[in-house]
Amino acid sequence: MASIFTKIIQGEIPCEKIIETDSEIAFLDIMPCAAGHTLVIPKLEVERLEDLPAEQALSLMRTMQQVAKAVSTAFDGIDYNLILNNGLNAGQEIAHVHFHVLPRAKGSPGPFREHVQYAEGEMQEVGAKIRNCL
Ligand code: 5GP
Repeated sequence: MASIFTKIIQGEIPCEKIIETDSEIAFLDIMPCAAGHTLVIPKLEVERLEDLPAEQALSLMRTMQQVAKAVSTAFDGIDYNLILNNGLNAGQEIAHVHFHVLPRAKGSPGPFREHVQYAEGEMQEVGAKIRNCL
């Protein structure tokens, strides 16, 4: 089902893109739980993880590993959660499968408990910092 992520994939809605492959795109979350909070999504329009063909799931995992490593390196080796909210009851708001790469500093609140806001220009700076670590 088409969602706002389809518009991002098609370039109709701008995003701070980290990487794009033939099958995936990764970009900064617009309402981050921490600076560097990144979403990694398949280009294929599927709602749930199990709807993704196995080959594409493997490809998504490869890209996610690359992105997660870059996010961590960009923030001096910061820890992170990889989170998939799969279905409404699991907190999925956008009906297009996506993984959150969520940086976790010492003492940071649990996933999705709090949000931060980027200052003017900060999102672009963070994006560049992560891309430099790919
Ligand atoms: P979910 O709750 O479905 O697992 O997560 C959806 C995520 O997508 C949320 O963290 C939300 O902030 C993010 N999001 C929703 N709309 C947009 C958008 O237009 N651009 C970006 N970059 N992120 C979005």
